[in-house]
Order: sequence, then C-alpha cells, then structure tokens
Amino acid sequence: MGIQKYKRVLVIGAHPDDIECGCGGLITRCIEAGNDVYFCVMSKCDNQFGEYEKDRLIKECANSTHILGVKTKIDIHNIPNMELPEHRKEIMKILEEKQKETQPELVLIPFINDPHQDHETVAKASVRTFRNNETILQYEILRHGSHSFTPNLFVDITKHLDKKLDALDCYVSQTSKRAYFNRECFKGLARTRGAQSGYDYAEGFLIYKMFW
Ligand SMILES: [Zn+2]
Repeated sequence: MGIQKYKRVLVIGAHPDDIECGCGGLITRCIEAGNDVYFCVMSKCDNQFGEYEKDRLIKECANSTHILGVKTKIDIHNIPNMELPEHRKEIMKILEEKQKETQPELVLIPFINDPHQDHETVAKASVRTFRNNETILQYEILRHGSHSFTPNLFVDITKHLDKKLDALDCYVSQTSKRAYFNRECFKGLARTRGAQSGYDYAEGFLIYKMFW
C-alpha cells in the first residue's frame, strides 16, 4: 500500500471511539512510518452521560490516542450525538477548515453506507469536501446492527493488534454497556479480515478513491 507515501493523514470520526475501532491498526502503522496523523471527531457525545461525567469520552479518547502514539492535538467538536444529519452545514465547515489546516494526502472516513445516521453523515460530508487528490478510504466500525461492509483493501495489523486492543480498552464507558465492544469481538474481526487476506490479523477498508 505504500503507507510512507502518505505524509499527512486525516482521520475523521463521528464519535470518539469510531476511529480506533475502524483503523487503530493502520494509524499505528502510519505513526511508526513517521507520518503526521490528525484526528477530527464531530461529537464528544456529552448527551450520553450525566452532568458529573460529561467529558468522560474525551478523557477516554485522550488515553486511547496516547496509547496509539498520536502526537497531534485531538480535535473533538461538540455536535450532539445522534443529531449529526441536522448539522450538515456545520460539519462541512469543520471539514473545510481541517482540509486547509492539514492538507491531507490520505483521508480515513466511516463507511458511506453505514446504517448509523451519524457515521453516514460524516462520510458523505467528507467525500463532498475532499475533492482534491486525496486518497479516501472508508473504515469498518464493528457494531450491533451493521453487517454490510465488504472490504476491498486489507492492511496487515498483526504486529499492531495489541496496541489497537489496548487503545479500545480505554473506552470503559463503552465496554461496560455494549455487548460487542470488547477485545474478543475486535480480535475476532481482525482475524476474519486476516483470514480473508492471508495475514494473521488485518483491518479491512473500502476504497472510495485512490491516486497512484
Ligand atoms: Zn460511532
């Protein structure tokens, strides 16, 4: 895939845990290759928690990205969780600013046909924004109610799996309430994508556009 060639990588998520779930392995590889990796998350999901712990996901995200080795500032916006479709214009504006600021060569986004309305909204706004020569890859978010993702690009994460799983473990607010959010499920998916591609463990992506 030539990860080294993508010097500036912008990773876009709707919610704080989307990115680690979909491409924590690839991000670790990019960082090890010396590339700059920028995070942009649209919602800090304040409305999920009571007042006393309303920054909980931000703290979990800070711990998680520290494990992955992200050195740039994590950019988390405050658009209400589950209401991203109603904030399309705001999201476009955030993405346009991010495009100018980071000038990415590789952009990682959620699956454009993801049944979750927030993931879909972010993905569609991204492909509208990044119309230059940015390569765009869609990543896979493992969750209940989503099963139609069929990758056409596989990234070997065998040596990076532990770091990805450790990063995801930081999201205690999610591991404690979602049956699919745990090491066994994430490892199982990585093994499946690996079995499909000849690696021990892999992440699957769907190419939206790619430049050679
Ligand atoms: Zn999400």
